[in-house]
Amino acid sequence: MRFLVLSDVHANATALAAVLAASEGRWERCVCLGDLVGYGPDPNEVVERLRSVANMAIRGNHDKAASGLKPMEDFNPVARAAAEWTRRKLSPDNLEYLSALPAGPLEIEGLALVHGAVRDEDEYVFAPAEALDGLLSSPSEITFFGHTHYQGGFSYREERLEVIHLRPQAGTGFAALRLENGTRYLLNPGSIGQPRDGDARAAFAIADLDHDVVEFWRVPYDIIAVQMRMREAGAALPLIARLAAGR
Ligand code: ZN
Repeated sequence: MRFLVLSDVHANATALAAVLAASEGRWERCVCLGDLVGYGPDPNEVVERLRSVANMAIRGNHDKAASGLKPMEDFNPVARAAAEWTRRKLSPDNLEYLSALPAGPLEIEGLALVHGAVRDEDEYVFAPAEALDGLLSSPSEITFFGHTHYQGGFSYREERLEVIHLRPQAGTGFAALRLENGTRYLLNPGSIGQPRDGDARAAFAIADLDHDVVEFWRVPYDIIAVQMRMREAGAALPLIARLAAGR
């Protein structure tokens, strides 16, 4: 089974379209790790596209905020303004879909899906010390997580934890990780709509479980078109600027 793994789309329809075009014909099941909305200008377009393409999706903190499941006071002023705009913009149908998304961890055919940490969907997993608990306690050997917007991850085998750093080739390209037997993995496909790992291209992953390979992809998209729609929507300038920096 080949899985297309999407995360942190953040209402960026242009980036999502580029990802779906680049991955066409390379997967059988599509899973989404949450944060469909928040920050970006296209919440309805993104939710509708994911509703039709994803076989399984879990919720992120921004989905909870936009659908009213989480108090917006937890957010900084910029994220909060974006969440309020998103909530006003979403159709009742799409709001209902977001509020009904399940929390992780959710399992599908050998994979576990979480938004943040395995035990707390709102917690960030940046450092090895933060990854250890999830590596040990996840219901599955291979777990995909999001939330940090950093592509890469961690592996654990015989009491050794390793950080996985991959450098996908320029343009549209990927770097492959070979999965070893008896090793546990916590893997982040990166963010589609708002990468923060220094590479402005949209990020995603394809997990080919029949061949024990995970491909970490990057694909360029029309960032300026998205920035113009954000400007029209009245988004905060730092949010608009960070798309081009990938930070
Ligand atoms: Zn996010």
